[in-house]
This record gives sequence, C-alpha cells and structure tokens, in this order.
Amino acid sequence: MDTQTSLRREVALANRIIERFGLSNAFGHVSARIPGTGTFLLPARRSPGFADADQLLVLDSDGNVLAGDGTPNSEHWIHGRAYAARADIMSVAHAHPPACVCLTQIGQPHRIVHNQGGGFLDGVPEYERIGLIRSRELGDLLAARLGSGNAVMMRGHGITTVAADVRTATIAACFLEESAALQLRMLAAAGGDATRIRAYSAEEAERVRDQLSKPIVERAWEYYAAVAQARPLGG
Ligand SMILES: [Zn+2]
Repeated sequence: MDTQTSLRREVALANRIIERFGLSNAFGHVSARIPGTGTFLLPARRSPGFADADQLLVLDSDGNVLAGDGTPNSEHWIHGRAYAARADIMSVAHAHPPACVCLTQIGQPHRIVHNQGGGFLDGVPEYERIGLIRSRELGDLLAARLGSGNAVMMRGHGITTVAADVRTATIAACFLEESAALQLRMLAAAGGDATRIRAYSAEEAERVRDQLSKPIVERAWEYYAAVAQARPLGG
C-alpha cells in the first residue's frame, strides 16, 4: 500500500471515529497534510461518519480544491491556515463536542481533572469569537489563538486539535472531550463551585503529560478504530 493510500485510510477512519464517539454528528472533520507539501486531505461536505478514503478531496492552504469530486467542508480554512502557520502540524481535527462547548459557555477554562487530561498540560486557549470559520481571515485568527499548542476551544462552537500525525490529533480530540465531560460532572457534583474541584497541580499534571505519547495513542486508537469499524454509521 503506498503512503497516500494508507494516509487516506487513516483520515477516513479518524473522521468516522469523531462521529461514532459523539464529538460530532453532521458536522466536523479531520484532515491530514500530504507529507512534504502544503496540501491536505479533507472529506467532502458530509457528516464525518460518511468519510470514505476514496472520496477525500485534496486542498491547499488558499482554499483551492486540487483533486477530488465534491464541495469541501465550509470550515476548510481551519485546516488550511493551521497547516500554513505551522510546518510541524501534519493533522488537524475539528469537532463540535458538547462538553467542550458547555465549558466555554460557562466561562470555565479546561483544567486537568483526570489522567487523560495530562496531554493538555500546556493549556487550552479559547477562541472567543462565535460562528463558523468560513474565511481565510478567521482561519488565521484561529491559528493565532492556537499558537504553539495542541488544542484550542472555540466558544459556543467546538474544538480544534493538531498533531504530528492523524492518530494523535484524533485521540487528543477524544481525550479533550472526555476531560471536559468529567470536569462538567465534577462541577455539577460540587454544586457549581469550581474551587471544590481538585484539579491537578502543575507538578501532578507533569506526571501524566505523556498521555498523548505514541504508546498511549496507539492503544487508544486500536480501541476507537475497532468500535468505529464495527459499528459504522448506518451499520
Ligand atoms: Zn465547526
């Protein structure tokens, strides 16, 4: 299997994972940079649950569709401008996961409250402006807010995670939503008093910083991928 065939399979599966695990329903998308280029693979404008390796589009960072049939997701600028801003980014996942959206709308920053949150030790900045990222300018603003980090919360909208490979970007999105969901439950159990949550100290969090390291990502991917493949949308 050549490199791009294998990458296409990973991208399609990543999209199916974010739909299957409730990070997105009709909307959301995962992309991958074609190595050594400024171009990337992105599904056409459908639910990520329908993503198909043979039907991915090839786009560039200026919003041009270079190959494939169909219209790209309208928020392709999230991907294109992230790739343009940082050469280290090889994959971008964008989803609308409910717990993360809730955190942004109650003004609570992401905090590390369980081990799988450790991959976000450097903080998850918030992009405050509401609405979709449907222009180059907004894509650049989002990339600027992401900075050198691996995730950004988008107020009332969702999240974007980035990584050096598809699996890590996808698992980061899953872990961030899991973390946000737990944080919300803790907040509710604590009567809404955020000071009662025993968020990890910086020293404690450092001990679980490796949660997005390759062995952990591979183990998580094995599970998420198996579930997404065993129960495909409509299957
Ligand atoms: Zn979106």
